[in-house]
Amino acid sequence: MHGFAWVNEVLNRIEKSAPEEGVTKVHMIYIVRGALSHYPKDEIEFAFHTLKKGTICEDADLIFEDKPGIVRCLKCKYENEWHIYEKQCEKCNGPIEIISGQETELFKIEGM
Ligand SMILES: [Zn+2]
Repeated sequence: MHGFAWVNEVLNRIEKSAPEEGVTKVHMIYIVRGALSHYPKDEIEFAFHTLKKGTICEDADLIFEDKPGIVRCLKCKYENEWHIYEKQCEKCNGPIEIISGQETELFKIEGM
């Protein structure tokens, strides 16, 4: 359950930074999540709804901004959007590496 640790860290960070920005109640939390993120969306949501109680984010909603995963072929350098179960380059069957889409990041908060 890595998602719990991640959400816990994000909530702690917001709890510290929001008051510095004059926010006493958070309404929206935007999270950028790549298609290849290690944290499943439902796990993040479940962790969030469990951990937010009693925090400045208690009444906040989570909004996900999805980013595609991008892979590149090590052989022919062809770049393509990642699809589930894809392990090889679709042009030359060469091995592929992930170049983006693994991130899960707090993007911004809205509150008052
Ligand atoms: Zn290739």
